[in-house]
Amino acid sequence: MSDILKNHIIAVIGAGTMGNGITHVFAQYGYQVTMIDISPDALSRGLSTITKNLDRMVAKEKITALEKDQTLARIRTSTEIQASVQDATIVIEAATENVDLKLKIFKGLNEFCKPDTILATNTSSISITKIAAVTDRPDRVIGMHFMNPVPVMKLVEIIRGYSTSDDVTNTVMALSQSLDKIPVTVNDYPGFVANRILIPMINEAIIALWEGVAGVEEIDNVMKLGMAHPMGPLQLADFIGLDVVLAITRVLQDGYGQPKYAPCPLLVNMVQAGKLGVKSGEGFYIYNTGDKQLVVSPNFR
Ligand code: NAD
Repeated sequence: MSDILKNHIIAVIGAGTMGNGITHVFAQYGYQVTMIDISPDALSRGLSTITKNLDRMVAKEKITALEKDQTLARIRTSTEIQASVQDATIVIEAATENVDLKLKIFKGLNEFCKPDTILATNTSSISITKIAAVTDRPDRVIGMHFMNPVPVMKLVEIIRGYSTSDDVTNTVMALSQSLDKIPVTVNDYPGFVANRILIPMINEAIIALWEGVAGVEEIDNVMKLGMAHPMGPLQLADFIGLDVVLAITRVLQDGYGQPKYAPCPLLVNMVQAGKLGVKSGEGFYIYNTGDKQLVVSPNFR
């Protein structure tokens, strides 16, 4: 890692699924990281997930036990956002996907951070330009969209807001490469690239199911076996969370105003029924069987 990169001090906001993964990779590649969350429970859960994932890497001989200890020693946790971001050279926000919350967090960051600190967000779908507009440094605000699970997935989708500078884009790309990730730069339009293509594909799979073209397993098998997707679109929807899939579909629908982005009524119904996929125990499949084999939900048999 170059000296310039090595001097970066990282703050990650949010210790959930993505926040703890982002903290893990930065710490593993030598950076000092503070992981910040409003919830002390979320911080301890996040830290225990990182420890578990590092243990798994040691068992698979991807890292040594010493590297695990060194990684953990680089992580601090905090519930005090103001005090914890003052030294940071880059803040990566990975808090709950909610526009009002993100705007509030970025207003605070703009006030608490040094003027040259880069403010990045891991949002899946909220406009980077909108977030940047609540700060007085829109040139230093950027999307840094890691994929789940962060320690495993290679891609970082780097999203340039309307005013993001070349300098900030280059720094964030170099930081991503220093984590052994592959950054891909895109412009700020609804869904960016990843979700603009992925989410309509998932929605189309749900429409095919709803219309009776094929069953859950048949649709997933066509895409797994025919298109070499590691997971079928319906299983992937369960993994992402159907509420999240619906929320991103709405962003595309609102942002482009085209009927092709309308969510399938079956998706809307399932979210209303609380069938959110893995996190609620049931979506297109059921997850509380203790069975390793995927079991299709009784609603679709
Ligand atoms: P999560 O619900 O697992 O975690 C969010 C965390 O943010 C929680 O621990 C919560 O306590 C914390 N939080 C809420 N308000 C806060 C505040 N004011 N300050 C500090 N912490 C706060 O969510 P997640 O799945 O990790 O998603 C985080 C972000 O990453 C979202 O913007 C989401 O769209 C994006 N994202 C998620 C995925 C995914 O697969 N889960 C993939 C890519 C991007």
